[in-house]
Amino acid sequence: MSQKQPKKIEKLDPHLVNQIAAGEVIERPAAILKELVENALDAGASQIIVEVEDGGRARISISDNGCGIAVDDISLAFERHATSKLSHQDLFAINTFGFRGEALPSIASISRTEMITRTNADEHAWKITIEGGNASKLMPHSAAIGTTIEVRDIFYATPARLKFLKNATTELNHCKEMISRIAMANPSVHFIFKSDSKTVYDWSAGTLATRIGQVMGNDFAQNTVPVLLERNGYKLEGLVSLPTYSRSQANDQYIYVNNRWVRDRNVAGILRVAYQDVLMTGRHPLAVLFFNLDGREVDVNVHPAKTEVRFRDSGFVRSFLIQGVKQSLLASQHTSSPIMGNLVANAFSAPSPKIFTNPQFNNKPILRDSYPSARPHPIAAFIQPVYVPVLEQEEVVTDYPMGIAKAQLFETFIVAQTKDALLIIDQHAAHERIVYEDLKAQWSAQGTLPSQPLMQPEYIELNESDCALFAEHKDLFEQIGFVIDVYSTKTLVVHSTPIACHLQGSKEFIADVLADIKTLGEGVSAVEILWEKLSSRACNNSIRAGKTLSLAEMNAMLRQMESTPKSAQCNHGRPTFVTLDKKSLARLFER
Ligand code: ADP
Ligand code: MG
Repeated sequence: MSQKQPKKIEKLDPHLVNQIAAGEVIERPAAILKELVENALDAGASQIIVEVEDGGRARISISDNGCGIAVDDISLAFERHATSKLSHQDLFAINTFGFRGEALPSIASISRTEMITRTNADEHAWKITIEGGNASKLMPHSAAIGTTIEVRDIFYATPARLKFLKNATTELNHCKEMISRIAMANPSVHFIFKSDSKTVYDWSAGTLATRIGQVMGNDFAQNTVPVLLERNGYKLEGLVSLPTYSRSQANDQYIYVNNRWVRDRNVAGILRVAYQDVLMTGRHPLAVLFFNLDGREVDVNVHPAKTEVRFRDSGFVRSFLIQGVKQSLLASQHTSSPIMGNLVANAFSAPSPKIFTNPQFNNKPILRDSYPSARPHPIAAFIQPVYVPVLEQEEVVTDYPMGIAKAQLFETFIVAQTKDALLIIDQHAAHERIVYEDLKAQWSAQGTLPSQPLMQPEYIELNESDCALFAEHKDLFEQIGFVIDVYSTKTLVVHSTPIACHLQGSKEFIADVLADIKTLGEGVSAVEILWEKLSSRACNNSIRAGKTLSLAEMNAMLRQMESTPKSAQCNHGRPTFVTLDKKSLARLFER
């Protein structure tokens, strides 16, 4: 057998090095846009004009009115590892977007790039062109102070990568998304975005609230609650959607760490936990959150595009974020949301807890332990403070907050009357909340949920690692009412299941929970995952729309609603009832 001969080791050609680096940072036009807009922000621009052609595939141009580049530095800016942003030599005290000195050389290595720049010390601007890594001579040019960079024919020099570009619409959408992300974190900068000469965005400078409105739309602005939590140098600020305003995809969730947009795989998980009492699985809140902390507590240099960060104490950070969002949601329960958009909207109103301010009821907040302090019982950590109406006198109550049932409409709605209002209750939505809160109350009182033996044990095959993972969390499954034995390294045997969740096949449930523990493992505790899955199945037991109810049954449900926390909203976040008071009723008839 012939022995392989060692080849001579050579240093890579700098142009090749740049192309390799470009592979990491620049996967598509939107990535170029990001790097160039961040450079403009670092240069202190107050106005940035972004133009793309053919979704950025043909041309991207970024114009800023920032400080420009000094003539002697212009060619250096295109050299690898050349930056003006790390002079203090401290990687953990960075307050600029860039610092790696890689973007310009990388971009220039895979496209035809032209830069025109002028500082306030220059009489005129200078222009440089770079093609295939070769820089032209500097040419005098006429332009205002600031920098314009134009990038044409991206990947023309690396045809293999060109093939990975998607069609113009997709690439344009990536560009729009990128501009939106950056613009939200920089409300004091005027952004103009044009695509094929048409103005897509023109966001003038303003406050953070205005900018979020510009980017996320008015609907979002009207359906959000503010978040603000500050402690020991950690600050969480922003807006999250009311439970009544959600999406089927977790798209509109923006989180910024020290003003840098990040793609944190735990964010969706964090929001899920914060919303788990008010949103069902499959629905996602919208959020724009800014999390600020000491630069030494977070490493932003773990990813070439700097979209991932690593926290020194990720457990604390997670708890802090969850708590911040939860507190705001809790506060929001005291404001109602608009539910109908016509004349009737003026008369009908979604319930607000005001309905429980009947003099016979005494709104005493029962405050439990809050995140992230001591956690005496795991479940206590996500039980929100609740308002439980307490009867003051023992006398017979005739004036119930939820009124007396009068009729059922379409086997779906209960019509009730109080002293001075008409109530329409969605029977399924209301009952779902009752069942769920009851489950929670049982759990917090006993720490376990009742279980129900199966007629025949169910054998479940899993792979070995899932089986081991299950064994680790067996106790938790038992707490919610499962009785399960590990039968072999690959088999579980289920003897009993929770009464609450009317399980159709435990396998799917267990596999679901284990899958989430694996993917969210670090971000969300197992008990939270388990509880979320359980509660989403619990509503199977509640009264459906289409079921005829007697007056007695309806009244019983109304009384249950009165003693159920958060009964004004179903688990999906929709209102469970609407009210129309006497006055509004009169107004409807112009009396
Ligand atoms: P980095 O941003 O990591 O420093 P870049 O390759 O993106 O690396 O840019 C190199 C240098 O060029 C920057 O450090 C900055 O000094 C200068 N520069 C780039 N773009 C601009 C701009 N729009 N305005 C002013 N200076 C710029
Ligand atoms: Mg840069």
